[in-house]
Amino acid sequence: TSTAGVIAVQGDVSEHASALKAAANAHDETVEVVEIRESGIVPECDVLLLPGGESTTISRLLREEAIAPEIRDHVAAGKPVLATCAGLIVAARDAGDDRVETLDLLDVTVERNAFGRQKDSFEASLDVVGLDEPFPAVFIRAPAIGEVGDAEVLSSIDGRPVAVRDGPVVGTAFHPELTGDHRIHDLAFFDARNNR
Ligand code: GLN
Repeated sequence: TSTAGVIAVQGDVSEHASALKAAANAHDETVEVVEIRESGIVPECDVLLLPGGESTTISRLLREEAIAPEIRDHVAAGKPVLATCAGLIVAARDAGDDRVETLDLLDVTVERNAFGRQKDSFEASLDVVGLDEPFPAVFIRAPAIGEVGDAEVLSSIDGRPVAVRDGPVVGTAFHPELTGDHRIHDLAFFDARNNR
């Protein structure tokens, strides 16, 4: 049994827990999901999930609760992280917004709310590197990825990257937990490819 920590200072958690369990199950593994709201728990986790929400609030709480350095240590030790939507913003190198103190886990810049007002939320069927069939992706006030440094683009929409991998860290601009399809969690955490 591995331990998956879901950062739960703000934002959605339960759908990610379901997707994590389904992905583990598909590999005949079990996973214990713990919610993280304070420091001291991240060091016990094998994998971490940084969910959506409001990136300004999440980054502030991660700093106030002294969780931010623990997440950086987790990645420095080569352990997997999946960062989605606001989580991607917080994990980026630069979010182009002074109110977001990024963790710099992914060598990318992001633009918050990049898909505009008319398209506040939408669904798209995405080709993703490593997946055989398109992934049903839900975008909610989603960021787009701008500059990509030393990271691999896994998926793009209208020429803009929306999923990337940088070593043990996978980031998605969309919400992979909302469609009952656990393949992104699988790709980030349980797939043999993440042991490259
Ligand atoms: N728009 C939010 C932000 O910039 C992210 C939205 C989300 O996580 N669904 O923080």
